[in-house]
Amino acid sequence: MRMSTMEILCCPVCRGSLSLAVTEKTVLEDGEDDIVEGTLTCTACSVDYPIREGIPNLLTPGLECREE
Ligand SMILES: [Zn+2]
Repeated sequence: MRMSTMEILCCPVCRGSLSLAVTEKTVLEDGEDDIVEGTLTCTACSVDYPIREGIPNLLTPGLECREE
């Protein structure tokens, strides 16, 4: 998961913003960090979402934050 993907992710429960704790990452050819293993935590409701093998598991469909 690219670091820039963080910008479009939000908590599927409350639409709050997510903080990222990185366990393992690589650096892509363009210099951007690619998160391999880690945890996304909602800053509003404190729900944790694991990132495994580069895939953030937010458990519900619709990963894009539609909040204006
Ligand atoms: Zn939340």
